[in-house]
Amino acid sequence: MALVTKAIKGTKDVLPKDVHKNQYIEATCLDTADKYGYKEIRTPVFEHTELFQRGVGDTTDVVQKEMYTFDDKGGRSITLRPEGTAGAVRSYLENGLCNETLPQKVCYLTSCYRYEKPQAGRLREFHQFGVECFGTASPLADAEIIALAKSVFDSLEIKDLNLEINSIGCPECRAEYHKALKEYFYGRKDELCATCQDRLERNPMRILDCKSPICSEIAKDAPVVIDYLCDECKEHFEKVQNYLKAQNIEYTINPKIVRGLDYYTKTVFEFVSNSIGAQGTVCGGGRYDGLVDELGGQKTPSLGFGMGLERLMLLMEAQNAPFPDAGVPDLFIAALGEKATLKAVEIAKDMRSEGFSAVMDLNQRSIRAQMKYADKLGSKFNIVIGDNEVETGIAKLKNMTSGEETEIALETFVSGFYNTSLSQQLSDLEINGEEFDFGSLFGLNNNSDNEE
Ligand code: ATP
Ligand code: MG
Repeated sequence: MALVTKAIKGTKDVLPKDVHKNQYIEATCLDTADKYGYKEIRTPVFEHTELFQRGVGDTTDVVQKEMYTFDDKGGRSITLRPEGTAGAVRSYLENGLCNETLPQKVCYLTSCYRYEKPQAGRLREFHQFGVECFGTASPLADAEIIALAKSVFDSLEIKDLNLEINSIGCPECRAEYHKALKEYFYGRKDELCATCQDRLERNPMRILDCKSPICSEIAKDAPVVIDYLCDECKEHFEKVQNYLKAQNIEYTINPKIVRGLDYYTKTVFEFVSNSIGAQGTVCGGGRYDGLVDELGGQKTPSLGFGMGLERLMLLMEAQNAPFPDAGVPDLFIAALGEKATLKAVEIAKDMRSEGFSAVMDLNQRSIRAQMKYADKLGSKFNIVIGDNEVETGIAKLKNMTSGEETEIALETFVSGFYNTSLSQQLSDLEINGEEFDFGSLFGLNNNSDNEE
């Protein structure tokens, strides 16, 4: 029984009273992406396990420990996506986007699954806003996606988020760096955790990302990748910085950022906050020039980022960032008796066709109870229709903010509602402390006789 009534560990419901906050964040992400020319792509929640093994990299924590992998009934190994990039690349290749004009710029809002220890900001099902830009080696693109992420944070009025950038070079310069890293860590091999001893052979940069206190202490004095960049990678990194400066985007260079996924090359970056505890990285991304060919395409320099939406929400709540109010019905129609109810159904339908929201009490309780219900819903306007209103064809529209009441003919209710609500809302509006000028709204100039 307990299993039926409990959500799976590390998952979270979003309730109707809160969902407008998620919708606001999601709409801001998509609107911002649109401003930069990134179009939404939707890919399946599961893929062949091999896609992630090859794409994310089988020396990563994600692939080694965190994936939700199972055999389906046909005996295929399937994995719930732990991140969005691999699926986007697969789709880009499979659907021939790679044959269209490059770069191809896509974005997504997506759920991700990782078997991790649940804690604040770390879930087993979480959500990401991500972008991918396929087919450009230009540092302009690196600066563009960083600016896009920054622009999402700015639109949401998030403060005190530090942008940290680094370059981890290309396979050529990284070979030199790996050599130096191996030499350094071999000197202290016995002190490293078992996983890192294994990493030392297969992918020594991973050690820099280890969360064990001893390994991270040892990693503090390790050689830094920036000192090993080849001329091309150095120049690329400098240009990225120039393009960030041109947009007044502040950043710090953090030579310790290597990112948790194997596919990155050159630029890597994180947006980090101090306001939400240990899981402070709200967005991580970078360039992955080798991934598309690793997954069977032509060599295609590309890049992207993933932004954790639950962490973003935690951050906004911690900072008291503004959210829009939850939506409330434009009109609540209370009805008593069958005739009145029929009229209410008709009016509700007409209101909705004209783009208003209209709600009535499906349980047809007493008028008193219906008014209580309307109060809970927070409707902007209410009307009550009973036998009397049906007979006279007139009802009182009540503005629930001002208490003002206006008689409206039921026959032409929607236009009556429209005029009343518009004029009442406009008269509430004060622009620069002055009464709103109706004339200007309709292109009339009321003040013309005051001049000349
Ligand atoms: P972390 O350092 O927290 O382990 P990561 O390096 O694994 O993050 P990415 O794979 O780059 O993260 O994912 C991008 C973003 O997705 C992260 O910056 C974070 O905001 C979010 N994220 C990653 N894992 C989780 C999780 N388990 N729960 C909630 N959000 C997550
Ligand atoms: Mg992780």
